[in-house]
Amino acid sequence: MTDRYDVLVVGAGPAGLAAAHAAASHGARVGLIDEQMTAGGQVWRQDVQHASPALARRSIGRTLDHPAIDWLAQTRVVTVEDGGLLVEDPRRARRLHYQTLVLATGARELLLPFPGWTLPGITGAGGLQALAKQGWPLAGRRVVIAGSGPLLLAAAATAKRHGAHVLGIYEQSSTENIQRFARSLWRWPAKAVQAMGLRAQLAGVPYRCGSVVRRAHGETELHAVDVDGPRGIEHIACDQLAVGYGLLANVELAQSLGCTLQLQGAHAYVDTDRYQRTSVDGIYAAGELCGIGGRDTARIEGAIAGHAAAGKTADADRLLQSRQHARHFADALNQCFALDPRVHALAQPDTLVCRCEDVSLSALDGYMDARSAKLATRCGMGACQGRICGSALAELGRFPRSGQRPPLFPARLSTLAGTNLSSINKP
Ligand SMILES: Cc1cc2nc3c(=O)[nH]c(=O)nc-3n(C[C@H](O)[C@H](O)[C@H](O)COP(=O)(O)OP(=O)(O)OC[C@H]3O[C@@H](n4cnc5c(N)ncnc54)[C@H](O)[C@@H]3O)c2cc1C
Repeated sequence: MTDRYDVLVVGAGPAGLAAAHAAASHGARVGLIDEQMTAGGQVWRQDVQHASPALARRSIGRTLDHPAIDWLAQTRVVTVEDGGLLVEDPRRARRLHYQTLVLATGARELLLPFPGWTLPGITGAGGLQALAKQGWPLAGRRVVIAGSGPLLLAAAATAKRHGAHVLGIYEQSSTENIQRFARSLWRWPAKAVQAMGLRAQLAGVPYRCGSVVRRAHGETELHAVDVDGPRGIEHIACDQLAVGYGLLANVELAQSLGCTLQLQGAHAYVDTDRYQRTSVDGIYAAGELCGIGGRDTARIEGAIAGHAAAGKTADADRLLQSRQHARHFADALNQCFALDPRVHALAQPDTLVCRCEDVSLSALDGYMDARSAKLATRCGMGACQGRICGSALAELGRFPRSGQRPPLFPARLSTLAGTNLSSINKP
């Protein structure tokens, strides 16, 4: 194992796996790192009770078994330093160097605050899916799934497979939007089959459009939610609520490396060219990081980035058309599930926005930017480092996205002790 790679790939989801495999197929020495213990990213997160899909097994197997690829599990990038990356694993910290770097850091959920959202029993939609796959018991629990996007269906199917009683899926987008999207699916037959498969698994589970969770009730844990939909307010007794409003790209590492971002409202993505090259020489980006597009787009972009990073653009050229097709699907998806402005009005003055530091929405009144609000109220200073509250406040139109300061994640003091602290403290 070396500390210097021809191609270093950050993130072992569908994009990173494809990138690593493509680069290694040209003889490049590849390092593949991920903070998780197992490869697969979000969509192929290992399920302790059920076998992974065949495509996941194939993609993961052929990549991790490749002799030119070093698989560095549980390894997280803490900061950018001296032309390399400072990474930390459970035992040690070290610097990794590269000739070319592929960023495939994926996405996280957008969580929007509403009264009661911090009660135990409430998670993101993907968050519930991840917990279930890791063995958290759901059997017999009454689950409500809400928010927006196709992840709600995937999360509901996982919850059902794990024995939950899924009471309903409440989508904020309108019936007209969803029907229009469904009618366009014939252009992407594989997606149509996937959607039909999910609907079959969810037979009997109500899917209600134009519906948002207004309030969660409970003293010490969740016991009911109020859903506002076309039929008025529905009060639903439940044990678990999984609510997420789509995905946000994890751009923080790319931002630290100086890559140009493309802003779309409160969302930011890494700007790339036809070969997935970012604005910084030798740095490529692929997958959700470049725009929320799902598994197939991520795999194609990862392969393009991997070929190009190994200097084989002719192989990348062969994939450009399929990427365009996949990106059209992503555009249709993003249009269909665009957020209705009423989700911006869910939080009340006393609703906690920063749940790490217990800061309410009204406590932020009068501050013009995230930095002054943070200095005065500690909003964004907790364990999530503003990933949840900062993203929510940007979506609510309170503060624009703020810049990225190292470290990217909370890190051990022994890791930081070996760093150039002046770069850590730089504003
Ligand atoms: C919670 C969640 C659940 C999802 N579930 C589904 C689903 O069931 N079905 C579906 O079709 N789509 C799902 N998606 C959408 C999913 O993002 C894409 O379909 C697909 O996984 C994108 O692939 P990717 O390789 O771009 O990113 P990801 O799969 O997100 O992979 C990114 C990887 O980068 C790693 N990483 C990030 N930052 C660092 C760092 N600093 N250091 C080290 N490693 C890092 C992460 O641990 C992760 O493994 C889900 C998304 C989320 C957020």
